[in-house]
Amino acid sequence: MGKSGYDDTPMLPNSPYCVHDHRRPAPAVVTPGSDNSPPSDAVVLFDGTSLDGWQSADGGDAPWQLADGYMEVAPRTGDIVSTAHFGDVQYHLEFACPSEVKGESQGRGNSGVFLMSLYEIQVLDGYDNPTYADGTTAAVYGEYPPLVNACRPPGEWQTYDIFWTAPRFNGAELASPAYLTLVHNGVLVHHHVEVLGPTGHRGVYRYEAHPPTGPLRLQDHGDLVRYRNIWARPVKGYDEG
Ligand code: MG
Repeated sequence: MGKSGYDDTPMLPNSPYCVHDHRRPAPAVVTPGSDNSPPSDAVVLFDGTSLDGWQSADGGDAPWQLADGYMEVAPRTGDIVSTAHFGDVQYHLEFACPSEVKGESQGRGNSGVFLMSLYEIQVLDGYDNPTYADGTTAAVYGEYPPLVNACRPPGEWQTYDIFWTAPRFNGAELASPAYLTLVHNGVLVHHHVEVLGPTGHRGVYRYEAHPPTGPLRLQDHGDLVRYRNIWARPVKGYDEG
């Protein structure tokens, strides 16, 4: 590939390459997004124009409301899942909790983003809204509070940038747990935390073997939470192109 570089430098540990190796493939070119658009290699899951790419948990059409550039939870119609499945992945999504504040604690702007349909990053209107720490906005629900509360006020669009390492299984046994890094509105709120297992209310749940990829699931918790601009980038290893 590159004409510059070396072949007489020390070998890197655990690598077929030497330092500054001229044989090492150049990184693939990706055009970054501008004005909130996805990068050129993203898998767009929701661009604000269609609910294609989403379905109900039982495989029917996604029952949520499509509006001008966003979708909104249709309360008590159930969660929706992406038709695309991912393992190790980067996600970007935006959400907004209702501008009209109703309820308190877990009853205020509650939804959720479930990685692989099992591991919830809480979506909540956590702006000046006391609740248990491991259930506030951006918590790994029931496991880890966010490092800080970076919420914007009710009604404003907020961002999650999610960096997910899927758990590995050896048959029925857990080989390595999931890891999560999360950036909320540009603020680091989880830094490579070890996910303890599937998340849930009032319980500790153990890993159970599942396929190496899974969908993104968005929660209907009965509140009028909105989503837009959802995209994914499967994570490839170095030199995989
Ligand atoms: Mg939730």
